[in-house]
Amino acid sequence: MKEALWWKSLGHGKVKCELCPNACVILPGKQGVCQVRENREGRLYSVNYGQVASIGLDPIEKKPLFHFHPGALVLSLGTYGCNLMCTFCQNWQISQMRPSCTVLTPRQAVDMCLSQKRRHPGIIGMAYTYNEPTVWYEFVKECAKEAGTEGFANVLVTNGYIAEEALGELLPLIDAMNIDVKAWDEGFYRRIARGKLDPVLKTVKQAFDSGTWIEITYLVVPGENDKDEDIEGLAKWLSNIDPGIPLHLSRYFPAYKHDKPPTPLASLERLRAVAGEKLEYVYVGNAWKKGYADTLCPQCREPLLERGALELERVNLCQGACPRCSRKSDIVGTVWM
Ligand code: SF4
Ligand SMILES: [Zn+2]
Repeated sequence: MKEALWWKSLGHGKVKCELCPNACVILPGKQGVCQVRENREGRLYSVNYGQVASIGLDPIEKKPLFHFHPGALVLSLGTYGCNLMCTFCQNWQISQMRPSCTVLTPRQAVDMCLSQKRRHPGIIGMAYTYNEPTVWYEFVKECAKEAGTEGFANVLVTNGYIAEEALGELLPLIDAMNIDVKAWDEGFYRRIARGKLDPVLKTVKQAFDSGTWIEITYLVVPGENDKDEDIEGLAKWLSNIDPGIPLHLSRYFPAYKHDKPPTPLASLERLRAVAGEKLEYVYVGNAWKKGYADTLCPQCREPLLERGALELERVNLCQGACPRCSRKSDIVGTVWM
C-alpha cells in the first residue's frame, strides 16, 4: 500500500483519481473502477503497490515485440487490476480478480533481474505485463527508474488507457511499448470494454512522438471488430504516423464472459492482407503457422527474421539490412540469437 500519484481532493473526504480517462470520483473506503486505487480517509492509495501476482522470464516476442531486441529475454512482472472491463479478457483471472501475490520492492525486482542475467546473458530488461501495468503506476515508475540505473530496458505492455500527463512522466523511462488497440470503433469500446477509443489513440501518438518504440496489438474478436473497414481504418491511421509501426493481429479464444468460437485463421489472413496495404509489418499472433510471425523486407519480401511459435529461429540480415535489396531493417537494438 503506497500513497498514489495523480489524484486530488474534492473535499468532504472525496477524491478524484486522474491517472486514467475514467477519472473516478472515489468516496472514503471505496475503490476506483480498476479496484486497485482506494480512498483511505480522504487520500488515495495504490493497493497493489509491490504486489507481484506473476513473474517469469519471457522471450520478448511473447509481449509481443518483434522489432525491439529480437530474440532477447525480459523479466516479466504483473500484478492485478485493470481500468477496462473487456468481456472477452484473455487474462481475466488477474485483471478482474485478486490472486495471491509475492511482495517485492522495486529494488528487489531489479536485483532479481540482475541475478537472472548472470545465468541468461540475453536478458535486456524488465517488462510490466500480464495485467494492465498503468494501474500499477507508482511501482512501475520506481522499478523502471531502478532498472534504468542498471542499464536495463523497460517494456510496457498496455491497453494505453492512461491520462496524457501521467503517461508523459512515465515515457522517458520506457524504451518500448506494446499497445492494445481493441477496435476502430467508439461503440465497441463503450459496449465491450467500458472505455473510450480516443484516449488510446492519443497514447499511441504520444508514445511514438516521445521516441519510445511502439508495436500495436489488435485482438480480432469474431463478429465484434473483424470487419475489413475496422482494420483498414486503423492501418490507415497508423500509416499516417509511420507505416513501419508493426501491427500484431491476435487470435481470440473464448474467455471470461465471451463464448464465441476462436477467430478463424482465414479471417486473420484476410485482415493481414487488408492491413498490409498500408503497413509494412503485419503479423498474426496467438496462432502458429509457418510465416505468421516472420519479418519480411517491406521492399523485396525477403524473410529477414523467421520465428517459430514464440522464438527467433533464423536471422537473415547483412549488417542490419536486407541481404537481397540492402534496405535497412527496422530493428531496434541487438538481435539475440
Ligand atoms: S486508475 Fe483506476 S481509480 Fe484511477 S481513474 Fe482509472 S480506473 Fe479510476
Ligand atoms: Zn529486401
